[in-house]
Amino acid sequence: MDASYTAPPGNHDPDVVVLAENVEDVIESVLYARENGLPLVARGTGTGMSAGAVPLEGGLVLSTVKMKRVIDLNVNEKWIQCEPGLTTADVKNAAAKHSLFYPPDPSSYKISSIGGNIAENAGGLRCVKYGTTKDYVLGLKYIDADGNLQSTGSLSNQVDGMDLTPLLVGSEGLFGVIVETRLALIPAPRATYTVLAHFHDIYRALEAIYTFLPELVPSVCELIDGEVIKAISQHDPYPFPEGCKAALLVETDGEEEAAKLELNRVMEVLEDHDALEIHTAQNPEERERLWNLRRLISPALSRIADGKMNEDVVVPIGKMATLIERVEEIAKRYKVLIPIYGHAGDGNLHLNVMYKKANEENRIIAHEAIFDCFKTVIELGGTISGEHGIGAAKNQYMNLQFSEDELNILRQIKHAFDPDNLFNPGKMLPPDSS
Ligand SMILES: Cc1cc2nc3c(=O)[nH]c(=O)nc-3n(C[C@H](O)[C@H](O)[C@H](O)COP(=O)(O)OP(=O)(O)OC[C@H]3O[C@@H](n4cnc5c(N)ncnc54)[C@H](O)[C@@H]3O)c2cc1C
Repeated sequence: MDASYTAPPGNHDPDVVVLAENVEDVIESVLYARENGLPLVARGTGTGMSAGAVPLEGGLVLSTVKMKRVIDLNVNEKWIQCEPGLTTADVKNAAAKHSLFYPPDPSSYKISSIGGNIAENAGGLRCVKYGTTKDYVLGLKYIDADGNLQSTGSLSNQVDGMDLTPLLVGSEGLFGVIVETRLALIPAPRATYTVLAHFHDIYRALEAIYTFLPELVPSVCELIDGEVIKAISQHDPYPFPEGCKAALLVETDGEEEAAKLELNRVMEVLEDHDALEIHTAQNPEERERLWNLRRLISPALSRIADGKMNEDVVVPIGKMATLIERVEEIAKRYKVLIPIYGHAGDGNLHLNVMYKKANEENRIIAHEAIFDCFKTVIELGGTISGEHGIGAAKNQYMNLQFSEDELNILRQIKHAFDPDNLFNPGKMLPPDSS
């Protein structure tokens, strides 16, 4: 399993597990899987939320978590070259030693692997200002379906022409096994300011976002709804004010003076929008305190009900209020709880449909509710996954978003990389209906 709410029914035990320590182990595994007709599923640390690393058809699970070497870090050119098994935090820490910064930060950054981040094009809290993993991958080395080592981008000798790197980022283990990468770094911001503001109404919080976003680029802009606040409050004594139904965690960063000016403008807007209270972190400990509330969301929600479909949908920023209204209607119609939080600065909201795993009727209703949420997202011009990937959890919904022609193009690309469907079969692409 991974961290996804559910994998399709059946036994998902692998036949063989390999903990690769180097490129040779990966090549040998690919050749072994080929010769023995076994599907091969690459795996990082298994924090994926779309069942991408689950071996649906058994086969060989190839973990790259032991491949943890930092091969080089070039301060002048600002990049790090490393193996896929390092955690996101390892990469951030290696960069920080040289006052450099690796911005992508999925909330799972302490445990997720860089290989998994690349395969899922992981996002996170700082995407609003700094973009996602794809914006930092300069080049890759991967083992193809014939067991050959291939290089792309800045890790290939090719300096011009077609670059396969963008195709491999977000390919969810369908095209090959990533064994090395070169990632861009940037200078670390000199100053960071953090505020947590509370509102009696989530729509007022959204109006505040709509007011400051056109004027400045916060480095973090996270929205938390009332149900999420209730869940957090059961595990943390943080004094959310009476009547608090929404919260915004906002950060500005950069050069001291500019970041401070931006913070002041954000504070002004929050006050103008009737924020009940605004807590400003005065030092790194207070900042950590506010961030810990944000990090508590996922575990706190998991304690409300043992089933939690955490869907990372995205809509155009201006449509977030409509999405929330429509999700509230869906929740009422199906009588399910759907707490909402997420990266509001880039329209990426996490809809969490809560249900009891053991209750089959409950599970089916939860699926129906999420299906309606996905249809709404598409109607609003959005996408069903902003960062968690499709895997086996959402491939049955791909045709809500893509036409059969578009899906066929994706199938042809998969075929070009992997004609025998060796890598991660049954993921991302729905079965061909023709
Ligand atoms: C509490 C929590 C919070 C999270 N927050 C975020 C968030 O804010 N933003 C976000 O984007 N995600 C988030 N995630 C999801 C998850 O952490 C990311 O998708 C992460 O990138 C997965 O990395 P992993 O190493 O766990 O990959 P795995 O789950 O092991 O694998 C994921 C996919 O990558 C493929 N893969 C793994 N390694 C390789 C390789 N070497 N070569 C080729 N393919 C490979 C697998 O085949 C699979 O398809 C969160 C997860 C949790 C549990």
